Amino acid sequence: MKKILVGTHNNGKFKEIAYLLPKKYKKISPLELKIKSPKETGNSFKSNAKLKVKFFSKFVDYAVISDDSGLCIKALNNRPGIFSARLAKKQGSFLKAMKFILRNLKNKKNRNATFVCSLSYKNEKGKITTVQGNLEGTISTKIKGKKGFGYDPIFIPKGKVLTFGQMSKIKKMQMDHRFLAYKALLKKTKI
Ligand code: IMP
Repeated sequence: MKKILVGTHNNGKFKEIAYLLPKKYKKISPLELKIKSPKETGNSFKSNAKLKVKFFSKFVDYAVISDDSGLCIKALNNRPGIFSARLAKKQGSFLKAMKFILRNLKNKKNRNATFVCSLSYKNEKGKITTVQGNLEGTISTKIKGKKGFGYDPIFIPKGKVLTFGQMSKIKKMQMDHRFLAYKALLKKTKI
């Protein structure tokens, strides 16, 4: 069976990317190979996704896919953006980070936000393809739902009433920013 390294230590992301990838692949986690994550030194989702794929591909001779993703909130100057994971670390947990965001949006009229995902894929021959998927939505006024991961309980996709935290995993995975990025990747390259 062909292998692909899904370059992320985030279990929620791993499951979503593994769900999107063709069945022909055995999906390998960096945890299985005892590989740590690289420092995210890029200044954009795309540069961080590329940096991760380059890093992880040093350890294997098969295909690698990595993402860099995050939540960009209009009224907060598109923060936390590429700092989404770091905000949760700084605040102590995702729950605390979500509370922090809700406090900061309390008096703001504009609750628009975008979930962004850059996916970078390196094939066995070493060719790298990087794409981005953006999903528009709004930030809820309360933390709602226990499903999903990260910021899912405060994000309502455009045209929906439920947060990602209230939706079934399958429903979320078939519309989210990672799904959109994957669709863009399939347009550019064969996987
Ligand atoms: P990074 O890509 O490793 O820098 O992490 C991105 C951060 O954004 C993580 O902390 C995720 O939990 C959060 N994030 C990315 N995608 C999603 C999602 O689909 N739902 C909820 N949170 C997400």
